[in-house]
Amino acid sequence: MGTVSFDFQNETVIVTGGSSGIGRAIALRFGRAGATVINADIRSDPKDKDETQPTHQKIKNEGGTAEFVETDVSEPDELRNVIGQAREYDSVDIMVNNAGWFTRAPFLDVDSSEFRKIHEINTAGVFFGCQVAAQEMIKHGSGGSIINTASISSTHAQTDQAPYDSTKAAIQMLTKNAALEFADHGIRVNAIAPGHIATEFGSGAEKKEESVEAGDLTKSIPLNRPGYPEDLDGTVLFLASDNAEYITGETVYIDGGWQTY
Ligand code: NAD
Repeated sequence: MGTVSFDFQNETVIVTGGSSGIGRAIALRFGRAGATVINADIRSDPKDKDETQPTHQKIKNEGGTAEFVETDVSEPDELRNVIGQAREYDSVDIMVNNAGWFTRAPFLDVDSSEFRKIHEINTAGVFFGCQVAAQEMIKHGSGGSIINTASISSTHAQTDQAPYDSTKAAIQMLTKNAALEFADHGIRVNAIAPGHIATEFGSGAEKKEESVEAGDLTKSIPLNRPGYPEDLDGTVLFLASDNAEYITGETVYIDGGWQTY
């Protein structure tokens, strides 16, 4: 099969949660495609097994331009601060709202602080990520592209995941809302919906690999394997690119066929 190559020279991308897992793969791929990458995360060190080099450092070592801005996406002012940092490179062209939190508990046991925390990070983090990026893109007048990380949980309820699943459903809808309201400004907004991806998120990579070997996770994945962060980055770069100029408000499932059941 053929492959695609991307060119994002002279473009600036912000990736939230870019230190580990899916965000790290996206940030590295943008770096390799020539973009200036700003990783906005609460920590710079990767959580991933066998990875020690911070994302921005790895991009620089590969000859790219990148930096880390310590950011808690649940604080809109901290998101505005990242946008301010992007102005050092002219403006922000692409915003990837990827940072996320996970909690697992029966519906009847979830307390209000746990519920609020996950909605502040996942829902408000993506909402204000879209807002601050679009405000800057509109001011700059060159349009832009925003990609949000939703999930198969956006449309499929899973046991003990009510707080998390509801954040991901919200992300899918606010992607459509933002697409609708930003279209006149030449800003497209889309989402990716990953399936079971082997990262340190929630259960952790090692545990996921074990589950996969035990057949737990693959039994409902038609392509018969878990996903890896590198299964997602190409779709994000495509959605960010001019090749996707007529796509907005869309959610692309990248799940090995999981949600076809
Ligand atoms: P991960 O834990 O490897 O990476 C998440 C990153 O987000 C980490 O670097 C973490 O430090 C950062 N982060 C957490 N809270 C933050 C905050 N408040 N502000 C800024 N950064 C913060 O997990 P991942 O699997 O790469 O998850 C990335 C996204 O993909 C999440 O939105 C998650 O919901 C989504 N997702 C993951 C899976 C999966 O199976 N791994 C499936 C569907 C969707």
